[in-house]
Order: sequence, then C-alpha cells, then structure tokens
Amino acid sequence: MSWDQLPILISGAGIAGLLTAQALKQLGIPYIIFDRDESVSSRGQGWGITLHWALNDFLSLLPQDIQKKVYECQVLENFHLNDSGNFVYINAESAKSLVHIPPSKRLRVRREQIRKTLLEGIDVNWSCKTVEVRTTDTEVTVTCENGRSFTGKLLIGAEGSNSITRRFTNPDNYQLYDLPVRFLGSTVELTQEEYDQVSKHFDSLLFQGTIPSNNTFFWFSLLSSPAYNGSSFYQCQVNFSWNCADKAAEKFDTVEDKIAVIKKVSSGLNENLMFLREKMVAASDRFMEIRLSDWPYADFDDKQGRIILVGDACHAMVMYRGEAGNHAIADVKLFIDLLGKCRKEEISWQEMIHAYKDDVKARAGPAVLLSRQACLDAHNWEKLKDFEVNKSPLLALRKK
Ligand SMILES: Cc1cc2nc3c(=O)[nH]c(=O)nc-3n(C[C@H](O)[C@H](O)[C@H](O)COP(=O)(O)OP(=O)(O)OC[C@H]3O[C@@H](n4cnc5c(N)ncnc54)[C@H](O)[C@@H]3O)c2cc1C
Repeated sequence: MSWDQLPILISGAGIAGLLTAQALKQLGIPYIIFDRDESVSSRGQGWGITLHWALNDFLSLLPQDIQKKVYECQVLENFHLNDSGNFVYINAESAKSLVHIPPSKRLRVRREQIRKTLLEGIDVNWSCKTVEVRTTDTEVTVTCENGRSFTGKLLIGAEGSNSITRRFTNPDNYQLYDLPVRFLGSTVELTQEEYDQVSKHFDSLLFQGTIPSNNTFFWFSLLSSPAYNGSSFYQCQVNFSWNCADKAAEKFDTVEDKIAVIKKVSSGLNENLMFLREKMVAASDRFMEIRLSDWPYADFDDKQGRIILVGDACHAMVMYRGEAGNHAIADVKLFIDLLGKCRKEEISWQEMIHAYKDDVKARAGPAVLLSRQACLDAHNWEKLKDFEVNKSPLLALRKK
C-alpha cells in the first residue's frame, strides 16, 4: 500500500495524539486527528507536568519553532536556565525533609499550554467522539457519535485512561483498576510574600510529603506566576490524597462533605503549611477530584495489525512517580522510529506493529505497577520513613 493512499487515524488530541500528529506532519505522512471535546480548552485540565527522561525525545519529534515554544510553557519563566532539578519530599507534620532526589534534566510545564502549543499547524476535528471501530485486513474505520466516520490504514487510540479504542482491542480486560486511595486538589492563589516563603523553605516548583500520624499525602505545585497569568498572584495547586478502602462508606458527595473530609485528613499538617489547606478549602469552587486508577497490562490485541494504543490509553498509571506523560512521549518516539523503518521497507507492517507492542509492554507494564506501589507507599509513613531499606519506588530515581 502506498504511504499517501490512506491516512493514519489518531483518536484523541491529548499530548500523545498531538505529538504523533506533529511527527507525522513532519514526515509528510497523511493523518486525521479527532477529539470528543468541542475545543482544546473545553474542560479545565490545569495541572503541571514534569518532562524529564523523555524530554529529549519530546523535543526531537517537534519542528524547531515549536521546540522553542515548549520552553515558554514552563510554570516559572526561564526556570530551566538555573534549575537545580531537586525533588523534595517531606515529613508533612514536622516539615523536615525526608529526601532530596538529586538533580536531573527536567522541564515543568503547564499541560494545558503544552497542548495548545502542540496544536500549532494541526487541524483537529473537534466534537468527534469515537464510538465504534471496525477493521479489515487492509483498513480501519472509526465512527463518531456525531455520525462522521474516518477510514485509514492504522488507528492510533490516544484517548487517555478511559480509552474507547481499548474496549475494542481488549473487550475482556479494558477496565481500570481502582486504588484504595482518594484524591482531591484545588488551584489557589498565593501573594508574592506567601510564595517566597514556600519557595525558600520548601521548593519553588513543587514538593510533596506524608503526614505520619494519618498517612495523608500532601502535594504543592506551582502552576503560573504573575508574569504569565497577568494577576498579582501565583497560581498553585494544593492537593491531598488519603487511604480510603471503602469509597462508598466515606460521605463525599457535596462540597461540604469534601471540606469536612479534607479538614479531617489534613489534621496534623505542619502549621507553616496549614494556610495552604485553608486556601484550598476556600477555593472549593475549583475542587478537582482525580480518580486514582490504572491499567497494568500495556498490551492490546488486534490480529489484523490495524490498531495501536499510545499514552494513558495503553498504560494508565497514577501520578505518584510523575512519568505517565513521559511514557506517552516514549510511545510516540518508538512508533515514529518503527514507522520510518517500515517506510524504508527494512521491516514489514506486521513486524512494526509487533515490535511496538513488545517494547511498550516491556517498558510501560512494570512502570504502571511501580506507580501503583509509589501511590500506596505515599500513604504509608512506616514504610516510607525507611525508604532506603524498603526501596520505595515513590522516592527512587525515575528511569527509562
Ligand atoms: C495531577 C496530575 C499530574 C501529573 N503529572 C505528571 C508529571 O509530572 N509527569 C508526567 O509525565 N505525567 C504526569 N501526569 C500524567 C500526564 O498528564 C498524562 O500521562 C498525559 O497527559 C496523558 O496524555 P494522553 O494524550 O495519553 O491522554 P489525555 O491527555 O487524557 O488525552 C486524551 C484525549 O482524548 C480525548 N478523548 C477521550 N475519549 C475520546 C473519544 N471517545 N473519542 C475521541 N477523543 C477522545 C480527550 O478529550 C483528550 O483530549 C500527571 C497527571 C495528573 C492527573
């Protein structure tokens, strides 16, 4: 089949889907990308992500003008020029540092802005929610909820952790595994003075910790500075997560329920951090609950070789090691490299699909379980306090 006959279909315009589109565009390979949402900003997806071990791969897949703009997505302007790369984990009761993970090359960016940057030059078909996938030996057809359909030579399922494509490749085991932990965060505003205090005593970008008396996890992270958001405040995320074996038994329906739970689980938080809890509770209109679930198989079945999964669709993982996005980038890099070989006829189409599946499974499958363990450890101070003996993946170096 000629390379410009049928396009590659990309279902989902998150980081994985858009990065794939950028890379295919540079190679001159036809593609069609579509997303269920009405636009890139139709739902608030405001969190920061750290690009670390996959940063070089990320940049290598982008044209030069967009590479430069990636640096403008940093949560703190030009931070990369003087970044010590430290990752700080504290005893959130005493506020003493448990560990400083040594420097590594990283870029802490706003996810929302990265997506907008990746959109440059890419024409996404919005409001196209994939609902059905049909394959033959030579092509794949996607039908969307709005009645539109697309036919291509390959479908890349990039719809995030609840991937619809995964339901077609894995009808018997597509469901997510729910961890016995609950997560709630909010975006709060800090004055310059407040931010300077946090920055001086803890970290300018992010830090995390556990309250030993109740095993609650606390996480502070900068989202934007006044120079970016145009106000006089620093926008930051304050998040808590806690052990919750029986979610139905914890009253968590209304804002009042949530505030009551947050007050309970955050008791014991260091007094110098308590003002962040107060701000978080006051910002209840911006509460963001994240379902902590994962999908450890990182394996999908398509005998005809017409579908692959990338990113969270392929290996949803909880964010306690901050590397799901890095794995998404690694998937795209792997696929694009294999596609290059296939195009040069060094490998066949089926060899390309198999090599992709094998590599992703070997790399990302164990990573999902490490992130799961990291999440459980974050809520287990007894284990964490001797992390060197107990070898917690929460505090180990992130590696490819
Ligand atoms: C709080 C938090 C912090 C994180 N921190 C980090 C970090 O520091 N480092 C890191 O590497 N990772 C981090 N991550 C993980 C990272 O954000 C994700 O791994 C990454 O965004 C996944 O990208 P994706 O493109 O696979 O999926 P998504 O970003 O979920 O994109 C999926 C897209 O598919 C679309 N879609 C869904 N269903 C359909 C459908 N049926 N049809 C068409 N389109 C559909 C959605 O609208 C969406 O645009 C963090 C995650 C969270 C929640």
